[in-house]
Amino acid sequence: MYNAKAFSAASATSPLASTQIARRDPTDTDVQIEIVFCGICHSDLHQVRNEWSGVMPTVYPCVPGHEIVGRVTKVGSGVKKFKVGDIAAVGCMVDSDGTCPNCKEGLEQFCPNLTLTYNFPDKHTGGVTYGGYSDSIVVDQRFVLKVPSNLDLAGAAPLLCAGITTFSPLHHWGVTKGKKVGIVGLGGLGHMGVKFAHALGAHVVLFTTSPGKKDDALRLGADEVVISKNADEMAKHAGSFDFILDAVSADHDINALLGLLRRDGNLTLVGAPEKPFPVSAFNLIFARRSLSGSLIGGIAETQEMLDFCGKHNITADVEVIPIQKVNEAYERLLKADVKYRFSIDMASLKGA
Ligand code: NAP
Ligand code: ZN
Repeated sequence: MYNAKAFSAASATSPLASTQIARRDPTDTDVQIEIVFCGICHSDLHQVRNEWSGVMPTVYPCVPGHEIVGRVTKVGSGVKKFKVGDIAAVGCMVDSDGTCPNCKEGLEQFCPNLTLTYNFPDKHTGGVTYGGYSDSIVVDQRFVLKVPSNLDLAGAAPLLCAGITTFSPLHHWGVTKGKKVGIVGLGGLGHMGVKFAHALGAHVVLFTTSPGKKDDALRLGADEVVISKNADEMAKHAGSFDFILDAVSADHDINALLGLLRRDGNLTLVGAPEKPFPVSAFNLIFARRSLSGSLIGGIAETQEMLDFCGKHNITADVEVIPIQKVNEAYERLLKADVKYRFSIDMASLKGA
């Protein structure tokens, strides 16, 4: 074991603060990474503040962060994919059993023995896993990804969660040229959803509560922008969407969105608000619409997404911050005031 620098929360109401955590020394199949950038996902905030207590109660101290890019500093003797000095990335998962039907299909995110990057039982230490708000991390090579060399690292970090979480359902639901696709919420996930849906050739409509984001949405690839609080604007799109991806982090009117789907249209939730939704049965049954969810994506699909980003030169639009600004960044996330992802420059942790 060795000590790593990190930022952690001591309770649901404490700010994140500088700390030291124990990391394992790399085993034969591990890759040790010096973290260069880590994105801030709204899930980090939900988890730190224990907003998902019914499903995934938070264990404190909590070190969040699952949008990690960095440099390889050590590899185990059995590691063939990476060598010291390579750029490597880690997303939301660090382990799975590798033998269940989900793992065999490349859907590790649904493995019953999945280990998430933070706040999950850590079989190596006996404690919980600690995430990327840290100067280093040690991860089994199966869960370490390659970043195309043309991508800016600060903007590539958010691809590891915001990127794959939007890329995967767009593929699953067959978004292609000619489809009318709605993206709800222009935050970290939403802005990646707009970029990907546009790159796939769909007609993209962005739904936002923030009129000030309209020009950015058009620049990012939306064909139209709808202010979701304006009932007249919403009514113009009734019954017309093939697919809607909902990336909103807070309580909102899901029925107003379901009514925009055409017959057999699907609305997929990736946003995970604390409060359950009241869903109108009529909204679903009268047009055979469906409502579903999606969780990140498998490892092979994450690599496919990174390679797609390399080919199309896609990264997140980021505001780079030092780790000392993380608590301020959380407050700004709650006000939907981020353009469009915070990416922490981990060099700032050296002086912390
Ligand atoms: P974010 O950057 O904070 O963006 C959320 C966006 O939702 C805001 O920018 C805002 O967009 C909109 N919004 C916020 N409050 C709203 C309200 N009351 N009514 C309507 N719209 C509202 O968050 P994120 O990091 O993209 O994450 C979004 C959600 O996805 C979170 O719940 C997160 O936990 C979840 N998530 C899920 C997965 C998964 O695998 N399923 C993975 C990662 C994250 P506008 O200003 O445009 O309205
Ligand atoms: Zn995330």
